[in-house]
Amino acid sequence: MTLYSINTGNFKLDGGAMFGVVPKSIWQKLNTPDENNMCTWAMRCLLIEDEGRLILVDNGIGNKQDAKFFGHYFLHGDDTLDKSLAAQGFQRSDITDVFLTHLHFDHCGGSIERQGDKLVPAFQNATYWSNAAHWQWAVQPNDREKASFLKENILPIQESGQLKFVETPDSSDGKLASTSFTNNMDVRFVSGHTEKMMLPQLRYKGRTIVYMADLLPSSGHIPIPYVMAYDTRPLTTLGEKKSFLQEAAANDYVLFFEHDHQRECCELVQTEKGIRMGREFSLVEL
Ligand SMILES: [Zn+2]
Repeated sequence: MTLYSINTGNFKLDGGAMFGVVPKSIWQKLNTPDENNMCTWAMRCLLIEDEGRLILVDNGIGNKQDAKFFGHYFLHGDDTLDKSLAAQGFQRSDITDVFLTHLHFDHCGGSIERQGDKLVPAFQNATYWSNAAHWQWAVQPNDREKASFLKENILPIQESGQLKFVETPDSSDGKLASTSFTNNMDVRFVSGHTEKMMLPQLRYKGRTIVYMADLLPSSGHIPIPYVMAYDTRPLTTLGEKKSFLQEAAANDYVLFFEHDHQRECCELVQTEKGIRMGREFSLVEL
């Protein structure tokens, strides 16, 4: 198996919303805001080459929204999905599986593209993976998440016939539910950020590496109370973070961050204040 980091570009979101109840005097040291309190975040996907499959985890914000929409999110940086794939010798038609952690627009916007007046899959040879509970949640959105679940990102996937669902197991022991996706990849489920978000967990180079999606969007979110204001069930996120961080620290997991524009990966260390970031590194250094 080979893993590739695929950055699709950076965007900006309000630092206060990203750090929830944490005051600006503290979070501004973790991610320096601009004069409007907006901070830079990456949209970093993960490409998994394994057993004849090429699995892309998430695909960024895409390019089909209008100028007004993109005006709110200040896209910047030189990376794009196509450029980052090409840098590793791949193109979109090579992708066999598009694995969507969840259907918020900054994770799945690249799934569908505009061809004339049609909306069609941007990965014509791929199976797209979500799960039934999250899909239902996204196509009948609550008022809180409505602005994050854009119909044009979601419905054409199903209409194309390329959508499949990952089985969702129950978890009753307080741990994150888990199911197998391939021989080298499991999926962990969390529901504090949104209903049944999926975190890929991979066995790679003798280590366990977890794609954090929006459970821990950046290394700055490792301390327990640092929960995004966007989360629909913050107390659930607190429990899921506690459980995950204990498991990850005890088993020396590698965390891979989707939204941290400064850091790709880190290990964890136990300190007297709790679990904190340990060694940080990029994926190619693993
Ligand atoms: Zn999200």
